Amino acid sequence: LLICGTFLNAQNKKPLYKDKNVPIEDRINNLISLMTLDEKIMQMNQWTYGKNANPNNIGEHMKAVKPEIGSLLYRSTNPEYRNQIQKKAMTESRLGIPIIFGFDAIHGYKTVFPIPLAQACSFNTDLVQKSCSITAKESWLSGLDWTFSPMLDVARDARWGRVSEGYGEDTYANSAFAVAAVKGYQGSDLKDKYTIAACLKHYIGYSLSEGGRDYHFSDISNQTLWETFMPPFEAGINAGAATVMSGFNDISGIPASANYYTLTEVLKKKWNHDGFVISDWGSVKNLVEQGVAKDIKEAAKKSFLAGVEMDMVDNAYLDYLPELVKEGKIPMKTVDEAVRRILRVKMKLGLFENPYVDVVPEKDRYLLPEYLRTAEELAQESMVLLKNKNNVLPLTSKYKSIAAIGPMVKDSVHIMGFWEGMGNPADVQTIFKGLNNEFKDKSTINYALGCDFDGEDKSGFAEALQVAKKSDVVIIFLGEKRNWSGENGSRSTIALPKIQEDLVAELQKTGKPIVLVLSSGRPLELLRLNEMADSVLEIWQPGTAAGSSVAGILSGRHNPSGKLAITFPQTTGQIPIYYNMRESARPQAGHYQDIPRDPLYWFGHGLSYTTFKYETIKLSKTKIKRNEKLIAEVEVSNVGNRDGKESFLWFVKDPVASISRPMKELKFFQKKLIKAGQKEIYRFEINPETDLSYTDSNGKKHLESGDFYIIVNDMQAKFELID
Ligand code: BGC
Repeated sequence: LLICGTFLNAQNKKPLYKDKNVPIEDRINNLISLMTLDEKIMQMNQWTYGKNANPNNIGEHMKAVKPEIGSLLYRSTNPEYRNQIQKKAMTESRLGIPIIFGFDAIHGYKTVFPIPLAQACSFNTDLVQKSCSITAKESWLSGLDWTFSPMLDVARDARWGRVSEGYGEDTYANSAFAVAAVKGYQGSDLKDKYTIAACLKHYIGYSLSEGGRDYHFSDISNQTLWETFMPPFEAGINAGAATVMSGFNDISGIPASANYYTLTEVLKKKWNHDGFVISDWGSVKNLVEQGVAKDIKEAAKKSFLAGVEMDMVDNAYLDYLPELVKEGKIPMKTVDEAVRRILRVKMKLGLFENPYVDVVPEKDRYLLPEYLRTAEELAQESMVLLKNKNNVLPLTSKYKSIAAIGPMVKDSVHIMGFWEGMGNPADVQTIFKGLNNEFKDKSTINYALGCDFDGEDKSGFAEALQVAKKSDVVIIFLGEKRNWSGENGSRSTIALPKIQEDLVAELQKTGKPIVLVLSSGRPLELLRLNEMADSVLEIWQPGTAAGSSVAGILSGRHNPSGKLAITFPQTTGQIPIYYNMRESARPQAGHYQDIPRDPLYWFGHGLSYTTFKYETIKLSKTKIKRNEKLIAEVEVSNVGNRDGKESFLWFVKDPVASISRPMKELKFFQKKLIKAGQKEIYRFEINPETDLSYTDSNGKKHLESGDFYIIVNDMQAKFELID
């Protein structure tokens, strides 16, 4: 009786943990006190389709799923299926603990938004947040509670295929989009309906895999770790991200999935993260390959003790944690702490009270008109006009016939990019369709394939040439296949295959204006292509609304406003090159002799169809104290004849400090619509503590007095921080 009394709520006689009116921590304590070791360990595992079940056989899957399992990596658009499995957990397990269903809804679920790298180029955090909340809603209505997104690996090596999955090369931009994504997925701390848990990944330093080879070792100094890689994760944690995923990489000798310093000392103790960490797919067992564990048992022990609470698909925890606990190698207290974190996320999601998702007809669930509008808006705002010689774009009515040539024109698969969620090519509006809709009454579209994405077959060149000859302007749609970037999508060269370059060279012979439209999951080596084209538009992998967004930019219905969130090098050999490098000892010397010093297009580059005129930077003061704020303002006028959005990037430079600082660092950005003939004031409130300090190799911030510069485009303004 006494025991019952400790966990039964006096009024309704149900266990405390089932009473939503009891504070979460008390419910969790109560539940943990009732759980057996095996039940606790089951919570720490994520299965795909049950141990060894066939994902295509729902019946088999249902049988294979044990009702006590903590999580499932779930891939289905059928919410009833989730509810059936969940019912099994709720009714057939002793304690009725709900399963958390997770999946990679990275840039959309059914409505596929542009890849995250593209999203970053929009410099529009509101729009990115909106796209994430749409993804959350579509996902939740399909049976999901959790997405393995956002990816916050600051990317400086475009050979690494996963540059497509993150927000580019800048730390501040990654932090800003981390916050937007977490807010979009989680709403206000998971309290609202249709919200799902976010997962910050891949913690940490994964993007610095040596030479851009996926899954490889990353050699990262503590200075770089703290200065470049940690801030986006810290921002995501502060925004309330429920979970974190540990990376595959080995950070200077201690793998990310067995790293006590990053996982426990920093994430849990310094940042006070109270959710849980999941390993990456197989990254527990990988400790054996990485040479820090002699067998899977040791791998399970190391990963668990370092602070990874959930094992993605390996069953290493399932198979070895029980004996490790019995042998006294893992304290029960640590097991309880891990379970507590997992249960806390489930409680916050409200899964104990509402374990099932609503079942609504597919037509009310996916691809709603508002979702498609947002997809188009985000896609067009993320496209970057790199070059526009003689203003060939937008295509005015003088172009009566338009040649649309290349492997991207009719594509509906690659244009969605890697991690397309449950996106269906049949739902993608192709560029071909978009062009025909857009130019319907104005111009004819003459199509030819020209060539495939790669290979040597030039048999389509002749037809392409004919089509080009009979047209007034030639638009060539080139790019990468979806799996040339993304996971395991590393490439030794970031140039497009020779066949695509040859096609452009062939069409250039016509002497017609040439527009290149490029779809890729990474920056490309454009040295030769850029020379051959009048205009170059990078569209990335825009997703479901590809056709209307691309056609809208080409016609001028949309004015391009994207700016590069990642630098385009001259050649692959110029990698790494990023805007916030530290200055060289001999700035004018030491660069490669066969190419210019600068990249082809820097971070922040992007043209518009209108012209923005920047006045000089106005500072509220030229000397400030540490506890004071400084206001910087710039007036920008749209002196062209089209409305346009302008992303304004504010950089700070600290020319002399105790440790050398980057040439400049992005500290703030803002995007505004400026109507033709109008002006807007962009304003940056500089807070010395956050904007002028630097972080040392232990993560400690330092604010040193002296001169600083605010930099905007090619202008700078100096001020002094005084004691
Ligand atoms: C990837 C993760 C992903 C996970 C689950 C892994 O291979 O590295 O980014 O979330 O699989 O699909």
